[in-house]
Amino acid sequence: MSAAAEPGRLLRVDHAACCRSGACSLVAPDLFDQGDDGKVLLKTARPPAHLWEAAEEAADYCPVSAIELETLPE
Ligand code: SF4
Repeated sequence: MSAAAEPGRLLRVDHAACCRSGACSLVAPDLFDQGDDGKVLLKTARPPAHLWEAAEEAADYCPVSAIELETLPE
């Protein structure tokens, strides 16, 4: 399995909207962490393909929909 980032996909977080629940860092610790203020820290905007499902799961769990998965045009 390749660890290379999957082309055409982008992960974003809305830092201002984050309510510090910590759900994302529990569901996908390889992608998210929490800063000293409790707000989300995105570890990478271009996660490798094998972590994309975890990114989608974290977006589902985020109570304020602060996690966005974007598919870029080819
Ligand atoms: S799940 Fe959403 S609200 Fe909770 S820490 Fe992550 S981005 Fe913030």
